[in-house]
Formats: sequence, C-alpha cells, structure tokens
Amino acid sequence: MTSGAYMQLKMLTDDKLCALICEDYWRQNEDGKFTLTVQEIANKYEMKPHILSSFVRQHAYVWLTTIFCIRCEQPFRLGSRLQYQERNRYRRQVCNSCITTEHQAVADMKKTILVEMRQSAENRELDLKSIDLKSSIYLLAAIQALGDEHLSRLEPLSDYPACTLSPDTAYDHKVLRYLIDNHLLLIGLNTSLEAIDSEGQINFEMSTFDIALDQNQITKLINDFTDASTVYNIKHNIDFIDLCSEIQLNECLAFLKAMLAEHQLTFVPGEKTKQVMSRCLEKLSPTQVYNFIWRAVTNAAAYYMRGSVSKRQAANSVVGSISRYMEQSLANDWDVKTFKRNYNLPQSSLSRIVFNTVLGTDDGGFKQPLHELIQQKILLSI
Ligand SMILES: [Zn+2]
Repeated sequence: MTSGAYMQLKMLTDDKLCALICEDYWRQNEDGKFTLTVQEIANKYEMKPHILSSFVRQHAYVWLTTIFCIRCEQPFRLGSRLQYQERNRYRRQVCNSCITTEHQAVADMKKTILVEMRQSAENRELDLKSIDLKSSIYLLAAIQALGDEHLSRLEPLSDYPACTLSPDTAYDHKVLRYLIDNHLLLIGLNTSLEAIDSEGQINFEMSTFDIALDQNQITKLINDFTDASTVYNIKHNIDFIDLCSEIQLNECLAFLKAMLAEHQLTFVPGEKTKQVMSRCLEKLSPTQVYNFIWRAVTNAAAYYMRGSVSKRQAANSVVGSISRYMEQSLANDWDVKTFKRNYNLPQSSLSRIVFNTVLGTDDGGFKQPLHELIQQKILLSI
C-alpha cells in the first residue's frame, strides 16, 4: 500500500477483516490523497459511514516521524483523517501523557512544600503564657472573621469580601503573617494547591489554617474579652494604643487606595504616606482624614482631566495635598467635616474587637480621634 511520504500505519488488531478496513481507510495515492472516500469504504464492507471513523480509530492509528511530542519525543497518534489533516497543529506540542505527568509532578512538589511547612510549624512549642496582646486580638479577629463552625479552622481569606478581617488587604496579610510567626496558626493540609505558586511561595490569603489552640483555650480567649478585669488590663497594656493607631492608619490607607483606584490613579502608598496619615490621626479621626483624602484625590483627578498634569503627577500630588489640608485646618482651627464609611469598606472584625468590644464604642475607631478615645475610654475608665 502507498502510505504517503512519512505516514506510518500501526495496526492494533489481529483480525484480518478489521485490518483490511483500516488499510482501505488510510490508503493514499502518490499525491498523498486518500484513495477511497469514507462512503466508498462503507459501501464495500456494508457498514454505516458514520461509524466507520470510530471503528478505524479503535483498530489502528497513523504516525509521522515529523510530528512528535517535544518532551518524550514519542510520535503523536493520529486516529482519524480529520486529525491527520490537522496534523500540523501537533507540531512542537506536548502530549497529554507528558502534560499529566508534569501536572502530577507540580502537584507533588506543592504538596511536599505544604507538608514541610506544616511539620516545621508543629515542631515549635506554643507557650500560652507568652501570647502577647497583639496575637490574642489578631487571633480573635481572625476566628471571628474566618473561623469555621467548630472554631478549629480558618477558611481562606480570599473566600470573603474586603474588610472582613482588617480594614486593608495589606494589613490582612500582616495579621495572618504575625499569627503564623507566633505559632498560633498552622497551615491547613487541605489548602488548595492553587495557593502555592510555581516558585513554591504560599499565598496565605488562599490558605486554610488550623488554630494551634484547643477548644478550651479558644473558649477562654473569647470569654476573656467579656471579662471586666481582663478588658481593663488590655486597655492599659502599652501595646494597645499602638494597635488602635495601627487600625486607624489602615482605615485611611484603605480609603486612599480605594479613591485612587476609583479615579484610575496608580500610586502605591509607602512610608511617606503613612507618616502624613499618622500625623493627621494624631489630631483627627479617620472620618475627618477621609475628608482630606477625598478632596486630595478628587482634585488630583480633576487636574488630570483638565490636562494640566500627567496621571503620574496627579497621583503623586495627593499626599502633599493631604498634608497641606491638615496644616491649614490646624492653623485655622477648622472644624473638619466628617465622612460616612465607604460602602465598600465596612467595619472589620479587628476594628470591632478593639473599638466596640474592648473600648465599648460604636465604631469609635472610625468616628473619633485616638486622643479623645484614650482620654474618654482609657484614662477616665476604672
Ligand atoms: Zn510526551
């Protein structure tokens, strides 16, 4: 039979009649054209034309020396005329078997990383007495925001909307990292392998975690926050004020990022921005700083729209404007108008624990300046 320049026919059957049908199906003339049509072969063997192709595919395939998998170098098996006609699609491709093997190897590598990370975390002893204030508040917020029904596991942060755990996504990451580093969260072995990238880095937002405390310890942690003497101690802990200002700062950073994104201005707030915000928050509440942020971003966007400045210049002008508004408001003793919470930035678990549960306010961390909260809720409290 003439089978074309490179085409090789491989029979998968010992049955003579089957082999004859397959040979007829794949026979080509010297120009590489198929000698018989499918209809002609079907008529010859008294078969239905529509089953002929699948019949041949079961009993034979063709291959070409030039069409092979670039990994294992095995030729691709072409089972039908259609596949043969489209054979060039398989050039420089990887076969299914190699793809499956590679996927399995990547999955095994990721699983190993996960297990090793879990084992090294389990090897560290957790001393309950050494749990600092920040850890216990962060953990309580994480349990409240992401805890499952049995209070033993945290669901992935990425399954929840923004501001579920903390006011800002970068802050969310910091909270989880802190709890992992303090041995309170153990990476969950049922974490989706998609949470691990090709470099072996784990995305904590996509991970599940087991809480390193037992049920009694978790219940005690939760109950402590309703106990008057414990709450008194928390309020007078030196780290508590730091935590309050950290949350307020992140409320403002989150709003700044949201406003910039709304106006398609790209700017990554860094240390300079944080310093300006912190200075504002020494005197004002986040809801008042929202006012400065709103004005600064809206004005920058307007300058850009008028063509006065480039997008980059507009974005870069924002922090300077916020700083100026604050200086003006202080110098002139202005009563800075307050803003409502942004619809997309509701109060987070962390803020509720600190400002509602411990300090007994209604979102006071957003509505009141920190110095006022300290005066009213800490210095004057007994
Ligand atoms: Zn292959």
